Amino acid sequence: MRQLEGALRSYAWGSRTALAELSGRPSPSAHPEAELWLGAHPGDPAHVIEESGARSLRDVIDEAPLHELGERSIAAFGERLPFLLKVLAAEEPLSLQAHPSAEQAREGFAREDAAGIPLDSAERNYRDASHKPELVVALTRFEALAGFRDPHRTVRFLDALGVAQLEPYVGLLSGQPDPDGLRALFTTWITLPQQALSALLPPVLDGCVDYLSRPDAAGAEFVPEARTVLELSEGYPGDAGVLAALLLNRITLEPGQGLFLDAGNLHAYLHGTAVEIMANSDNVLRGGLTPKHVDVPELLRVLDFDSVDVPLLAPDATGRVGEVAYATPAPEFVLSRIDLDASDAGAGVSVTIEPDGPQILLCTSGAAKLGCGAQSLVLERGGSAWISASDNEVHIQACADETQIFRAGVGRVTT
Ligand SMILES: [Zn+2]
Repeated sequence: MRQLEGALRSYAWGSRTALAELSGRPSPSAHPEAELWLGAHPGDPAHVIEESGARSLRDVIDEAPLHELGERSIAAFGERLPFLLKVLAAEEPLSLQAHPSAEQAREGFAREDAAGIPLDSAERNYRDASHKPELVVALTRFEALAGFRDPHRTVRFLDALGVAQLEPYVGLLSGQPDPDGLRALFTTWITLPQQALSALLPPVLDGCVDYLSRPDAAGAEFVPEARTVLELSEGYPGDAGVLAALLLNRITLEPGQGLFLDAGNLHAYLHGTAVEIMANSDNVLRGGLTPKHVDVPELLRVLDFDSVDVPLLAPDATGRVGEVAYATPAPEFVLSRIDLDASDAGAGVSVTIEPDGPQILLCTSGAAKLGCGAQSLVLERGGSAWISASDNEVHIQACADETQIFRAGVGRVTT
């Protein structure tokens, strides 16, 4: 058990306050801070704090993979940490994106290798051969677009905007309100020539403004949807992703709620702070709302057009005091949350976890004392710890009321 120091990533869409406040640094920060990476990703590994100083978690694992990861994780995922845990703090929307399935990732990686596209090229879609399921759990209210909306509802939304120029497109979807109709409409919009896009977007935005200005707008069904379209167009004027947003579920997560994004789910995070865990992969196919590489044909290959009411995940009790877990089908990771009060500790209650593979603990509220054999460690708010597969039982005791700790580990591979 060792203290872990995350790698802070600065992207333009990040918050100047959320991560600084989480870790008790001066707020607002000088630069936008978007993500805190807690993992062994080669792009930006976290560091374990040892007596001799800080060492990259990646180096620590590479030097003693069996000791750090254990047999079970290595048998399933090889000699690398299979998940990446993050804190994500979005002030502005992130790109519109989807991730490939395991099979698509293997095929795409081999194909781009065969085509001689260097791994570090900006044109490269598949930087590894893995899928990238991801789970976000909101720390604050968290806004997102995810998955295609039921086409019948989308037809209602587009009709409600009352935009004449949209009529042929609404007709396309109302004539075929199913995954094929969604595929046809999304493909049409995302591949519109810039001139046609520039002609269509202004009346759509006017339609959204009109819709929001109607006296009954407060009670109207699609207020957040229309607002989001306007916000996206402010950040990315003339971007086809603004039209795509008309087709997606507009989701609000309350703190503690989770959202699991499986392969092919088109999504964009809009605003808020969340804990995010994902398979350790970089495979992202973007569809817009970004200055980064966009590959529309490849995105269309992986997208899932089955519309879904994206279910928000409520966690289930685990049987451990104060601990709830977010169930997903991803084998690379499990994520649970432990909520404890200092008074629980006073009553002699502490949570004991058995390392069954590598784990990362992240304190998002309060503070806790961790005990492992003869070692002890205080986890302050914003702090994290690395627990290797070879560590003994870890006892967690809250030092403050409303202490909250997220616990990430390796999932179960079912064969
Ligand atoms: Zn994603």
